[in-house]
Amino acid sequence: MSRKQIDQASDGQETTSETASKTRNDRDVASKKAPHETRSNKAAVAVPASVVPQNTQNLGLNELKLEKGQHPVNHNLISENALKVLYRLHKSGYQAYLVGGGVRDIFIGQEPKDFDIATNAEPEQIKKLFHNCRLVGRRFRLAHILFGRDMIEVATFRGHHVEEKEQNQQTSKQSDGGMLLRDNVYGTINEDAERRDFTVNALYYNIADRAVYDFTGGLADLQSKQLRLIGDPVTRYREDPVRMLRAVRFSAKLDMQISPEAKAPIKQLANLLQSIPAARLFEETLKLFLNGHGLATYKLMKEHGLFQPLFPLVSKYQNEDGSSNCDKFIEIALENTDRRINAGKRVTPAYLYAAMLWYPLEALAEERVIDSGLNYSDALLLAMNDALDSQTKSIAIPRRFTSTIRDIWHLQGRLPRRQGKRAEKAFEHLKFRAGFDFLEMRAEIQGGDLVEVTQWWRDYQTENATGRQSLIKELNAPAGKKTRPRRAKKKKPASESDA
Ligand code: ATP
Ligand code: MG
Repeated sequence: MSRKQIDQASDGQETTSETASKTRNDRDVASKKAPHETRSNKAAVAVPASVVPQNTQNLGLNELKLEKGQHPVNHNLISENALKVLYRLHKSGYQAYLVGGGVRDIFIGQEPKDFDIATNAEPEQIKKLFHNCRLVGRRFRLAHILFGRDMIEVATFRGHHVEEKEQNQQTSKQSDGGMLLRDNVYGTINEDAERRDFTVNALYYNIADRAVYDFTGGLADLQSKQLRLIGDPVTRYREDPVRMLRAVRFSAKLDMQISPEAKAPIKQLANLLQSIPAARLFEETLKLFLNGHGLATYKLMKEHGLFQPLFPLVSKYQNEDGSSNCDKFIEIALENTDRRINAGKRVTPAYLYAAMLWYPLEALAEERVIDSGLNYSDALLLAMNDALDSQTKSIAIPRRFTSTIRDIWHLQGRLPRRQGKRAEKAFEHLKFRAGFDFLEMRAEIQGGDLVEVTQWWRDYQTENATGRQSLIKELNAPAGKKTRPRRAKKKKPASESDA
């Protein structure tokens, strides 16, 4: 999904852009501007019949060079800002390559979501070249070059980490479990390629000779639609468990298979995700679920045991065959989200989180009713805290989204009560639309009274003021019989009732 789409999220609701820029301090947290307006946005790139042409230059072990004209990367498909950065680095005497999704997506005929650049210039040197540059990230130091709402990420070539005792803690640090706490050792382009995650993400387009370089067999893997992790999968997942989430995300987005070696250890290592900071995981979930392939990604997450560590509370209410209301509801919500994103409509992560947690919330409220004898609506209010407290332990949902989540949940109680001024008041609520859409989804799962309520609100939204009044009157008519003030029952004599 585009940054713009998240920014304009649902009906003036708060958006994720602020979080994205605040937490853009490491390679994976970075939520860059999404689809760029490339110069010829819609230029369809034909997927080359053979990704690896016959007469490619073999540079050595597994290294290929595709000359200009032998590959589909051309400047019409690269954003103007990315080109500016590439040229400035090059003219200043540095090496400058487009790398990652920007190259990969052009090869498979998709529009790149963003453009990433790799260079031998070190962060401080990059900063000197661009007045609009800020350096971010401790774990993974990066330069962000800002062009209004657009941002180009520039990374210095990473090198291999040396033995622990020789390590400089400022540049390289690893936990006992093998997780990289600092990844700021610089190296050559070949080493940089080996530090990347998947082979298809390690293709480099050189601005100097306009050739594409493949150091890890990425072109062949693009051809066979394989997501192959560079190096030993267990070590690479231990270094950074988020790579497991990236595997399923790319598999869904690119319609590629995770290679058997990269797939095998995931289930066993999935729990390592619990050690990832909750703020980084929030950003990751945006990439996982709000990329237009949310449903497919979610199914893969479940299949590989990656959903449970991120959503432990939700998982309790799901079942193996996905037939629980909780499972169905999440699927419908993701299907809607994908549809909206692919139609260029606005979305908010709050809506999705509200849906994920809805059935756990209802169950928690019922537990509170039973345990403490509260009435349902008080119990529901407290259960909202329970559900959000539990979820935010693993995923730090920013406060402005949790407040929208609560609004959506509150509206579920308000929308069925429409008499008098209530409908008008609910309709004026800032989050009415999100609340109504949510109700509509619930009706799809639960049926019953919710279907009538949803239809009523559908009519209400299309009617003018007079029509709305009569809808409310009609509502009162059948119910009127029930609500008409009853004649007070004659009190039984005290002695009788006490008996
Ligand atoms: P997208 O289309 O989502 O932007 P991308 O592959 O460009 O996909 P980014 O998160 O933009 O992903 O990262 C850019 C590149 O940086 C990746 O292609 C990969 O080469 C490298 N990279 C990113 N995250 C990691 C990681 N956790 N471990 C190793 N390499 C990574
Ligand atoms: Mg990218």
